[in-house]
Order: sequence, then structure tokens, then C-alpha cells
Amino acid sequence: MKPIIIANWKMNPQSSKEANKLFEDIEKEIKDIKKAEIVICPPFVFLPSFTNIKKGAQDVFLEKGGAFTGEVSPLMLKDLGCEYVIVGHSERRKYFGETDEIINKKIKAALENNLTPIFCVGETKKEKEENRTEEVLKREIKGGLKGLGSFEVTLAYEPIWAIGTGNACEVKTAAKMRGIIKDILEESFGKGVSKTPILYGGSVNSKNAAGYIKEAGFQGLLVGGASLDAKEFGKIVESVV
Ligand code: PEP
Repeated sequence: MKPIIIANWKMNPQSSKEANKLFEDIEKEIKDIKKAEIVICPPFVFLPSFTNIKKGAQDVFLEKGGAFTGEVSPLMLKDLGCEYVIVGHSERRKYFGETDEIINKKIKAALENNLTPIFCVGETKKEKEENRTEEVLKREIKGGLKGLGSFEVTLAYEPIWAIGTGNACEVKTAAKMRGIIKDILEESFGKGVSKTPILYGGSVNSKNAAGYIKEAGFQGLLVGGASLDAKEFGKIVESVV
């Protein structure tokens, strides 16, 4: 299986001119790379501009349409050519009050509309210090995937203390967490889900990226800050193929 490298641009850049330039620069960096599944997740407003690289959204609403001011439906994302959508990112949980229940509904909405959810889970620094990581992951995974029989979900382990801090999770610890997540998935949903790709995210850069794939056994990466630098992003992808 090809490693899946997801670029999460978050709420950047601030103009379509800059977004187009970044997209073109990334395209140049990765044009010869065939051995990775590369997905760019820009803000919604830039989605229509990009055609040559696989794309995903950073969020989705749980209804197909109707009186939901400000929201974007899975049908709209599909229509714009999205194949993926990030669901349950810690910034959405923290700033927009997304609960496991809401995330579960969003995952279902994405799947019903043939979008692959990139389902994010991870513990805060406090939860880690209180040795509650496993309990948190269990709650988030079981809650987010509740009621789903078979599913095509890509899971991303994103320890919140590692996101945007430059304090990436040690490869050895990340490998252990991957094992724990796999066990939770199998215990909750059966052996069939062992094929569910598990990605790592949290201060990934071109120096640490390969370790998560080649040593810790993750099937891909979710890259935030470093995906805004085309050269750095290109190096990350090159280091894992
Ligand atoms: C993210 O936004 O999911 C992320 C992992 O960010 P960063 O790479 O900047 O830590």
C-alpha cells in the first residue's frame, strides 16, 4: 500500500493568489512521485481551483442540504472533486465544540457520500500526564465509529500536544500508540478493520517523517504547518517513498 500523505493547510493562506502559487509549487515538487497517495486539504474556498492533485476538505456538515447557514455538505464536496475529508480534528473539537457524537454523524455523512473520512484522534498534554491516553483513544474511536459495520475510514493519531508545537511524538512512542489503536479497532470492530490505514500527525517535518512510516509502521502522515512550505512538503513525501 502506498503511504498516504495528507496536507492540512488549516486556515491558510489568506488569498487565492497565494493558494494558487502554493498549489503550483507543491505540484512541481511532487510531480514525479508516484509511490505515495498525496492529498491536499485547503480551506473550502480554494477547493474549486485545484484539479491535478487529489483533494480533501478540512470538515463537512452532517446533512446533505437545507437550512444550515454557513455549512458545507458532503454532496458539495463530492461535486468539487473531493475524495477525502478530515473529521474530528482537535481544533474542531476544541474551538467548535465537536463531540464524539457529532463526529460520528459527520463520519457517517461522509461515507454515505463516498468521501473517505480522515478521522483524527489524540490526547491532550494533561491527559497524557495523567496516563489517560488509552482511555481517551478508546472513547474517541468507539464514539466516532459507533454504529458502523464495515467502514472505509482512515484514522489519524494526532497527539494534541504535538500539533503545531514542534514537539513531535517520539517514533518509539508513536509505534506503541499505533499498536494500541490497532488493538482498540480490533477489539471493538473485529479483525477485518486491521487494514484500516493509521496515519501519524503532529509536527511532522522532513527530518522525522520517514521514522513514522519506516520504523513505527504508520501508513501515512497528516502534515499541518510543514505543508505550507512546498519544498519542505516535497522533501517529506520523498523521504517516505
Ligand atoms: C494538523 O494540523 O493536523 C497537524 C498535524 O499540524 P502540524 O503538522 O502543524 O503539527
